[in-house]
Amino acid sequence: MILDKEYRILVVDDAKDTQMLLEFDLSAAGYQVTCCDSGGDGLASLETQEIDLILLDMYMPGLSGLETLAQIKAQTISAQIPVIMLSASTDEDEVVAALELGAGDYVTKPYVAKVLLARMRTAIRLKEKTAQLEYLAKTDFLTGINNRGSFFELSNNAISLANRAGQPLVVAMFDIDFFKLVNDNYGHDAGDQVLRVFSQGMAEVFRGYDIIGRVGGEEFAVCLPNTNRESANIACERFRYYMEQLSVGIITDNNDEKNINITVSIGLVLAPNDSLTIDELLKQADSALYYAKEHGRNQVVDARIISTPDESDKMLVSLMNTDDIEKNNPLQEGIIMANYDGIDFDVGVSNVLGDEALFKEILVMFYQDHHLDGDKLESAIQQQDIDSVKHLAHTLKGVACSVGAMDLFEATKALDIAVNDDKPEDFDSLFSQLSPQINRVMKGIELQLDVS
Ligand SMILES: [Mg+2]
Repeated sequence: MILDKEYRILVVDDAKDTQMLLEFDLSAAGYQVTCCDSGGDGLASLETQEIDLILLDMYMPGLSGLETLAQIKAQTISAQIPVIMLSASTDEDEVVAALELGAGDYVTKPYVAKVLLARMRTAIRLKEKTAQLEYLAKTDFLTGINNRGSFFELSNNAISLANRAGQPLVVAMFDIDFFKLVNDNYGHDAGDQVLRVFSQGMAEVFRGYDIIGRVGGEEFAVCLPNTNRESANIACERFRYYMEQLSVGIITDNNDEKNINITVSIGLVLAPNDSLTIDELLKQADSALYYAKEHGRNQVVDARIISTPDESDKMLVSLMNTDDIEKNNPLQEGIIMANYDGIDFDVGVSNVLGDEALFKEILVMFYQDHHLDGDKLESAIQQQDIDSVKHLAHTLKGVACSVGAMDLFEATKALDIAVNDDKPEDFDSLFSQLSPQINRVMKGIELQLDVS
């Protein structure tokens, strides 16, 4: 019989002759064997050795087999190791007790080597299959890092821990710049290679206890426990730079080898003191990510710089100091506060580093490019033209964020998510929430600016 690897078996039995027999039979079958005389010694050796299976005698002085079994199963380090009980008697109650405590199987002494070995093989195979299934359920098949579900679960645990311990925690979201172009120009295999190299880079740059995951097609995220804002910015910047410097070897659809460069946009958010879920934190990191995308890509943006300021007074004062309003709106002479309905003017202006005139130009362009998006979306939804819905929602989401139209941004984002989650049945109701937002924002711009 050939084993897949060198499995190590722990034999716990107070009878020396049984130990010797087992050592002989198991070694002959290719196993590594560690023998212990007592339950206590057995538990101790579990802490120092990697064990694949335990053969545990039922009757021993000191800690009994059942007591030892209970302790094995109670400890994280050993709970998953399969245990086969060995006993001279066939007391049914004891068999039941052992199985209920988590033993995988039961063999009577004197044992038949062939039968024992077969049962050991089965127990080991079962354990490996279970581990494999667990791994597959939690892993992104392409990149080998946490999939979305696993990332969410691990991050939520880390967030609860951070809240209890009063430690800072940062969540960052990553999006590969112009990833679609890689797929379009070089084929999907090349795209897959980029995604793998990207994940390897994340695993390399971030620390072992940081949680990294693939949360969407070309979207990745990291949860950084016990990390403050400054360190997180440095770590993300280091990763951004790492990717920028890296030459990624790909094989194109035509079987050409090629080296390409890719860059990444990153949005991050420091978790506030009150406990939020990873869902909510990712939403905020995502807004920062969109800001990074809209402002030239290949950069790290902290959600702090796009968060809504509390003092709306600042906006009032800054508008009072300019005569732009009067110039643009002769009919509204005398008003001191521009009201762009649905747009957080302050956020929008701070997005262009305080340049109000520039922001107004942007609003006009935004109006010209997107004021018909409501109609376009409606007809795309009616015609079930998913590609157009996707394109419109995705684009509108990005610009809505950068002009500070946050309600519109949230409404568009919900539609964008429904597209990505393949839920066309939700489109109508999401559109009915989006439509008033887009009308409101466009009307507000029309009232304030010359959009003709
Ligand atoms: Mg015994």
